[in-house]
Amino acid sequence: MELHSLTIHELQDMIRAGGTTATRITEAVFQRIGAVEPKVHAYIRLMKEEALAQAALADEDIKRGDIKPLTGIGVALKDLLCTRGVPTTCGSRMLQNYISPYDATVVEKLAAAGAIFIGKTNTDEFAMGSSTETSCFGPTRNPWDTDRIPGGSSGGSAAAVAADECIAAVGSDTGGSIRQPASLCGVIGFKPTYGLVSRFGLVAFASSLDQIGPLTKDVEDAAIMMNVLAGYDPRDATCVATQIPDYRKFLGRDISGWLVGIPKEYFAEGTDREVLDAVEKAVQSVEKCGARITEISLPHTKYCVAVYCIIAPAEASSNLARMDGIRYGLRAKEARDLAEVYTKSRTDGFGAEVKRRIIIGAYSLSAGYRDAYYGKASQVRTLISRDFDEAFRECDIILTPTTPTPAFKIGEKVENPLQMYLSDMFTISANLSGIPAISIPCGYTHAGLPVGVQFLAGRFEEARLLQFAAAFEKSAAVEKRRPVV
Ligand code: GLN
Repeated sequence: MELHSLTIHELQDMIRAGGTTATRITEAVFQRIGAVEPKVHAYIRLMKEEALAQAALADEDIKRGDIKPLTGIGVALKDLLCTRGVPTTCGSRMLQNYISPYDATVVEKLAAAGAIFIGKTNTDEFAMGSSTETSCFGPTRNPWDTDRIPGGSSGGSAAAVAADECIAAVGSDTGGSIRQPASLCGVIGFKPTYGLVSRFGLVAFASSLDQIGPLTKDVEDAAIMMNVLAGYDPRDATCVATQIPDYRKFLGRDISGWLVGIPKEYFAEGTDREVLDAVEKAVQSVEKCGARITEISLPHTKYCVAVYCIIAPAEASSNLARMDGIRYGLRAKEARDLAEVYTKSRTDGFGAEVKRRIIIGAYSLSAGYRDAYYGKASQVRTLISRDFDEAFRECDIILTPTTPTPAFKIGEKVENPLQMYLSDMFTISANLSGIPAISIPCGYTHAGLPVGVQFLAGRFEEARLLQFAAAFEKSAAVEKRRPVV
């Protein structure tokens, strides 16, 4: 096995045994990038020089026996995360030249844990999309089939992990943006409970939904990353001060006797036959672990997409108000007065999808409509959230498909926003209710495209969720194929 294709824990074992160095790992990753990146386009910006300098320092640490949880590990960062010294573009012309004066909390934490930053990954513009096609830097391609999308919005992060262009990556998830691309690229994607990971330095999309989480090659790596990412931060007012266990300790523990709920609303018409077949097999693997299966109902599921399509744009329209060409963002040169600075800068800086969201969001928040739209959506959101509270009184875990279809073709849905929004129909509910969720590979279609299954747990139950996912991973033993780019 070549170094770039190994996991965090495998590489850490090698480092500890004196079998490799941070420099060798980093060089292997950049060699791989050299070979496949022209076809995949996972990155907006590579940080080779910085990474090799970080690796040299890491090797000094290793020599001294100072090995941290991510020492020598090449991590890719979604370009929605602020990084001092290199641009943070959010995939938008608006921020093409923006350099943050500070690092996001998660970036600080990863650096403190020894991670080496490989680069900033491609994303749908301001994380608005499900295919990474709305990035102003052009689409990322799915390593399993480069005519297809990798999912989105953290499509660059998912593709980078799948194509071994990094060891692990970080993404953000507002309606599925970690789990959906993870599913379509055959990697693990983990969205933590709202409030567990600090969003300080994450450019906000929809503040009541956004969470940061890892994309990794296996569940153990997800646990290692969560050990680093989770934890209270006074700079994010929504961050909860809660005890963070060592998530890794829960892996390998038994899940027999656990009750797993299958919500019937997530198996309604419209989901691809091959996805259903793979998820069916996942259910059998769960049973093999000694867990019991029960059908449950989440009766308000049918409102999830509609509620999301009001709440997310409403919050986005307000968050993006700061991109006015003065405080932040591109400034139109030919503007003659203040109003023109605003309108021209925003007209030039934002792409079509972002404008669509701002218009919908501003409308649903405007006087006379706020109660009917944002207010009503917030009420229904509570009902959706209560469905889960109710379900978790009974079951330990809920199991659903992650996405209704495997990766679709580039260009297939860009002209049809509704179709695009529907690719998040199974992931949105976790954001609306703030619960943790993981997508994990559960099989392949006949054409060889990966399929993911989603597990959900109650708020702050990530330890149990990871325990369950690890047990499933072992029992399912899904064939470890690698994309041939
Ligand atoms: N695809 C969804 C959207 O377009 C979710 C994006 C996300 O989670 N950032 O809004």
